Amino acid sequence: MTDKTFFIETWGCQMNDLDSQRLSGNLKLRGYRRVEDQAEAGLILLNTCSIREKSEHKVFSRLGELRELKQERHGNLQIGVCGCVAQQEGERIRQRAPWVDFVMGPGNVGYLDEVLSGEKRVAVDFPEDRRYDFLAIDRPSATKAQITIMEGCNKNCTFCIVPTTRGREVSRPFDDVLRETSNAVAGGRVEIELLGQTVNAYRCPTTGRDFGRLLAAVADIPGVARLRFMTSHPAEVNISRYLHLPVQSGSSAVLRRMKRLYTRERYLEIIARLREAIPEIHFSTDFIVGFPGETEEDFQQSLRMIEEVRYGSLFAFKYSPRPGTPALKIGVAVDDEIASERLTRLFELHEQVKRERLESYRGRVVPVLYEGPSRNDPAMLSGRTDDNWVVNFTGDPSLPLGSMLGVRIDQAQHHTLRGEAVA
Ligand code: SAM
Repeated sequence: MTDKTFFIETWGCQMNDLDSQRLSGNLKLRGYRRVEDQAEAGLILLNTCSIREKSEHKVFSRLGELRELKQERHGNLQIGVCGCVAQQEGERIRQRAPWVDFVMGPGNVGYLDEVLSGEKRVAVDFPEDRRYDFLAIDRPSATKAQITIMEGCNKNCTFCIVPTTRGREVSRPFDDVLRETSNAVAGGRVEIELLGQTVNAYRCPTTGRDFGRLLAAVADIPGVARLRFMTSHPAEVNISRYLHLPVQSGSSAVLRRMKRLYTRERYLEIIARLREAIPEIHFSTDFIVGFPGETEEDFQQSLRMIEEVRYGSLFAFKYSPRPGTPALKIGVAVDDEIASERLTRLFELHEQVKRERLESYRGRVVPVLYEGPSRNDPAMLSGRTDDNWVVNFTGDPSLPLGSMLGVRIDQAQHHTLRGEAVA
């Protein structure tokens, strides 16, 4: 073990993944080496998530383990808590776990030097100066780059902790996003994913240009083969071939209590309009089950939503009460056993829908972006379809990474497709 080694553990959403890429890139610039085993690390960073209570609990149990490690090393280990639990709990983390060296919220990734040197022990403001250095991002994929276009969220859904942990919406300047994209493409990353909590609320702080203009400008950069974005809010919809459009519930009554700013009917109308404009469009979503007051009938409307929209993939969670959120005043969560049973039913229904969707690919030739050898069978190549399914296929392994190929699908497996490159 040397002092200049680090280990990062990341929980949570794409935004946290990207923050870890930024932390890692910045540490490497400062001469640190990344290790995959915490036993070899002189610096351990926990990049935490507080979206649900369970994720928050994990942090404190991990900190308990790290206390022992630090004792075994006679204090010769630096521990940093980053991410949303850091933001939410701030100084309280060091009161409860004094062996933690520093606490750094997601808006403070640019303040790494200050926390590493001990100049700052708790960095949880929402600084004006975000110090965003895109040259120092340690991107894990050779073909894909995630790019922040905005931080924070102004939506204030009653269940959500994000406005507390990531602050008010701040968009990055338009030209910075374009520069970062060009740089990523020059490095071979031909798939670009624009990230933010509500990307379709993007507005350039200096010129006022909106998300539609940004998408068009990024798509125009030579070499961008595929453009994705995450997450869109249904109240501010824009268009692409694959859209993650979190619905949260199929019941208008629940949506109103969540303060989602749309109804079941409005959501379905948006889906229908998008399908009319782009018949090949695919949707994925998030659901919350067991929100305060959710009845069996409300829940059934969520099931019907899955049948109607036929989401390719979905994430679903039991409602988790979060500190300081307005939902705490709305009432208590649905009984845990009922919520668990609803979650199981929801996943079962979606499994069926997913199977049918995967089967519908059989015999078709689909565009696939080649990412490298298949993880499970290195003799096969692997890539993704427009709507994000992994495809393992036979073909010429000497093809450049990032090539767009036609693949004929001959098998639908549990979560993936299999086929043969044809063009
Ligand atoms: N900004 C996006 C939106 O609201 O549309 C997503 C934010 S969040 C990182 C991802 C998902 O976590 C949400 O879409 C929601 O389904 C889930 N989530 C957020 N707060 C929750 C809570 N208190 N309990 C359970 N699930 C929650």
